[in-house]
Amino acid sequence: MARNKVQFQKGLSEAGFDDLYGTEERCRDAVFGWRWPGGFVCPVCGGREHSLLRTRALYQCTACRRQTSLIAGTIFASSKLALRTWLRAIYHLTQSKGGISSIELGRRLGVTQTTAWKVKHKLMQVMMERDAGKRLSGRIEIDDAYLGGERNGGKRGRGAAGKTPIVAAVETTPEGKPIRLKLRRVKGFRRTDIVSMAKRNFEPASIVLSDGLRCFNGVLDAGCTHQPIITRSGRRAALNPAFKWVNTALGNIKNAITGTYRAIRAKHTPRYLAEFEYRFNRRYDLAAMMPRLGHVAIRTPPMPYRLLKLAENHT
Ligand SMILES: [Zn+2]
Repeated sequence: MARNKVQFQKGLSEAGFDDLYGTEERCRDAVFGWRWPGGFVCPVCGGREHSLLRTRALYQCTACRRQTSLIAGTIFASSKLALRTWLRAIYHLTQSKGGISSIELGRRLGVTQTTAWKVKHKLMQVMMERDAGKRLSGRIEIDDAYLGGERNGGKRGRGAAGKTPIVAAVETTPEGKPIRLKLRRVKGFRRTDIVSMAKRNFEPASIVLSDGLRCFNGVLDAGCTHQPIITRSGRRAALNPAFKWVNTALGNIKNAITGTYRAIRAKHTPRYLAEFEYRFNRRYDLAAMMPRLGHVAIRTPPMPYRLLKLAENHT
């Protein structure tokens, strides 16, 4: 069973983490390997020979004498945090199934909540940029949902005020087993909103299954086929086996988001969605998530707090 395989896999234990990344020196070696998998390369002259200035953690090119910091130009830059703290943050973000709040992360890292918030959002940004360009194809189950907003007193159902509309789409095998998930904030559930979402996220000729909400016909404009599945019990087809996986994924995500985070600022929804998407799409290889995210993080440019606080545009 696929789900058991996910739930009972080993992941990376805390002891395993300490073995690999427990000291600043081990973290530096790991980050060095992510940055220069084939050995040091001088960013100025391409020279391969170098020496390490231990006191300042700088790598000096033997040919041109240029000193390079391990984290200059990366998402880890402009921060006084030890690499050990960054890598521990990556550990918590990738290995905890339901995500981790910045309050909890701050507690575990021994830093203030503000610092933890910055670290977390920078890493979520890395996750978002990593997966933004990958499109779903083949058989895709799609559903609409709202996140956040007033829990009591507000209007219920589709169109409720103060809530953030999102689309969840799962690429599946022909038998309906989930392969990859995409979670996208949309402006609303008008046809035009679905058209632009589908053009960016689905390959043409994909077969999109929905519960028949009218706007989902927008996938036709992206060259996809639309198969609305309408059951006798009404358009909400929770029991329809065709939607088993997309409903399961959506349910888990809504629970996790509401459970872990009291309130998500609507403007940061895409980053939170990216975090869930990232973990879901790599759920069969928990242990490898750590080096894989590190590898991408070292290739993601720095992001100042000022930019981090702006609303992100999910492409
Ligand atoms: Zn050089």
